[in-house]
Amino acid sequence: MTKSKSPSIADNSVRLEKLLTTLKRDGIGHTINGQRVDSPATFDTTSPVDKSVIAKVARGTASDIDKAAKAAAAAFKPWAAWAPEKRRALLHKIADAIEARADDLAVLECWDTGQAYRFMSKAAVRAAENFRFFADRVPDARNGQSLPTSDHWNVTTRVPIGPVGVITPWNTPLMLSTWKIAPALAAGCTVVHKPAEWSPVTADLLVQICHEAGLPPGVLNTVHGFGEDAGKALTEHPAIKAIGFVGESSTGSAIMKQGADTLKRVHFELGGKNPVIVFADADLDRALDAVVFMIYSLNGERCTSSSRLLIDEKIAPEFTARLAERVNKLKVGHPLDPATEVGPLIHERHYGKLCSYFDIAKKDGATIAAGGKSHDGPGGGYYVTPTLFTSATTSMRIAQEEIFGPVLTVIPFKSEADAVEIANSVQYGLTGYVWTSDMGRALRVADQLEAGMIWLNSENVRHLPTPFGGTKASGIGRDGGDYSFDFYMETKNICLAKGTHSIPKLGA
Ligand code: NAD
Repeated sequence: MTKSKSPSIADNSVRLEKLLTTLKRDGIGHTINGQRVDSPATFDTTSPVDKSVIAKVARGTASDIDKAAKAAAAAFKPWAAWAPEKRRALLHKIADAIEARADDLAVLECWDTGQAYRFMSKAAVRAAENFRFFADRVPDARNGQSLPTSDHWNVTTRVPIGPVGVITPWNTPLMLSTWKIAPALAAGCTVVHKPAEWSPVTADLLVQICHEAGLPPGVLNTVHGFGEDAGKALTEHPAIKAIGFVGESSTGSAIMKQGADTLKRVHFELGGKNPVIVFADADLDRALDAVVFMIYSLNGERCTSSSRLLIDEKIAPEFTARLAERVNKLKVGHPLDPATEVGPLIHERHYGKLCSYFDIAKKDGATIAAGGKSHDGPGGGYYVTPTLFTSATTSMRIAQEEIFGPVLTVIPFKSEADAVEIANSVQYGLTGYVWTSDMGRALRVADQLEAGMIWLNSENVRHLPTPFGGTKASGIGRDGGDYSFDFYMETKNICLAKGTHSIPKLGA
């Protein structure tokens, strides 16, 4: 089969215009029990490219969440009882439908978030893969262990926990939503999804796609709105048994408090300030490619981005000079242009926050070796120049705080022990990346890094069965493969007497 030509910016713009016409006319409502539901209040979702309004979006309240949670509760038992093969087939059908709409999903995501098409086209395909991967695990989801003793058989099994809440952030929203929703549905749970208020568009299309593919009403409900009302109400609702949350560490902490009264099980994927450590003996060309990719792809709005480069002081001047040259050449541009590498930041508030770090860096004594200013991009949106901070020390705010943009902080180190100490000196612990040709050192350092995921001589290459999650302020729990089912399911032990073992005779 010949590969079809990738679309041009003109093709993407034509596709987008058609989709925008419908969105502007109809707005975006909630989907509850398979039906569109509107709220009296709405909010605008705007494009970071030109600040134009994409659609009016229903602003969900506690009452909308209550309706959605009740719909999810009513749909739970019948959905959990579906035969595994039937559920597997339906999830595959959803994956097919996502693939069929992948170009629509990609251009909408670009327009709603500012992320570049080269990455969003892949994210749409990955969203389908998330469904496919968990579809194939459905038949084994309930499997457990056989733990016999001399007089009893113990058999463990897993059962879906019940209706769950999924709360997602605005960075790669479609990919992250499917990463949570697909395993929940595969486990037999029903879902109420509260997408981020800055990026509601693809969540709306996703729930429509699921229903068109045959998902029964009430199994996936989507309620739009703000964290402090719709989000909070979801975490407090008694019918919701667990909350899968991706977002900021401080929001995770708030959700834990909100969910305490109803004893919610929580799974948190939170912030990061991840180190990439480059030793002098590394393959420096490959390390350079990975360093650039892991902070400047996806606009740097990526939880696993390596936002701190810890560089062996012996090679720091030369490596940093090569790095600055690459950063200056990054193609900042329109997100629908397939050549674009960095698009506009998602929102005025995020843009303001990010730009404030240019002054913070200078005030703290760092050097701005590249970027450090806004960029006059097409549409006049929230563009910044990809930025490189050098001469940084670990106590500076640019070395401690998650900036979440195309901004890299370079910190030189003197020794292996020094590198590990700097790497671990932050509140976060999501990922770590190590570049060296000494395999003993690679494993030694990996063992000492405080992080949930470490890549040695590699960038963030994902394999879906592997555990995904963070330590410290970066999260609680793991996703991926069977780890996801540990969260969305309860483990139950069934104990059966083999014969007539002796039973203590009280009162005999
Ligand atoms: P955020 O915490 O501000 O918002 C995330 C979601 O939580 C939104 O849907 C929001 O409406 C909702 N929310 C806010 N307050 C709430 C409350 N009190 N109760 C319930 N829900 C509430 O995060 P963001 O700014 O949208 O996303 C960026 C953050 O997400 C970054 O810190 C990033 O590192 C993190 N993130 C982590 C991972 C990971 O896997 N560890 C992945 C992606 C993003």
